[in-house]
Amino acid sequence: MKVHHLNCATMRPPLVAGGIVAHCLLIETDQGLVLVDTGFGTNEVTNPKGTIDGLSRALLKPLLDINETAISQVERRGHTAEDVRHILLTHLDLDHAGGLRDFPNATVHVLDTELESATNPRNVKERARYPKAQRDGVTFQTHEAAGEDWFGFEAVSNIAGLGEDILLVPLIGHTRGHTGIAVKGDDGWLLHAGDAYFYRGEIETPPSNIFALKLTAKQTETIREQRLSNVERLKELKARGEVEVFCAHDPVELARLA
Ligand SMILES: [Zn+2]
Repeated sequence: MKVHHLNCATMRPPLVAGGIVAHCLLIETDQGLVLVDTGFGTNEVTNPKGTIDGLSRALLKPLLDINETAISQVERRGHTAEDVRHILLTHLDLDHAGGLRDFPNATVHVLDTELESATNPRNVKERARYPKAQRDGVTFQTHEAAGEDWFGFEAVSNIAGLGEDILLVPLIGHTRGHTGIAVKGDDGWLLHAGDAYFYRGEIETPPSNIFALKLTAKQTETIREQRLSNVERLKELKARGEVEVFCAHDPVELARLA
């Protein structure tokens, strides 16, 4: 399968030199197009104040360029919104789910605990991170975080319509239902680790980090022990050298793969 790496939202949070991206995938399959994460979409770009709360706008400082939206990039490649049949989301945070409404024909796959967090938030933090408007009219298919072994991780496989080469790899911690998404492309296995980590150095040996992103990871975490243990597991996976691991927001990882 041909896999394209896209940036669907440039953001310039204070103290993060070089800014961050929303690393998304566009996959060409026999059954149509599949997206992994969606960044910000048409609604966020045309009406930011109506879709992104003030605190998130201040913290993320999104560029909001219509040319970066997934729909715009899909159309520039000669496809239409209707060609996108499935969207897999690492989680439902607003900088990942922004483009959903641009693809009315797609089935959106998330872990069951993630949709539950968004629809039944347990506290102020959960309520703020999942704007309801982004899910209006969206068709969801939820999945339980249990399945077969994939490089030592438990993976949800055999998702109807997606074949055997696109899997959910639960990486709980950042949110209650956060998942990685594994894709077997023409050059081997990729793992989109979403917000399981924020900076490439976190999964290198020896690890490194930058202060602002370390702070962001901590401020946005939901289940600390699981988040930290998943970073360790991703470090081991990367060290094996068999899977190309990357996160949602690191511009250097995106530049290497795009
Ligand atoms: Zn994020």
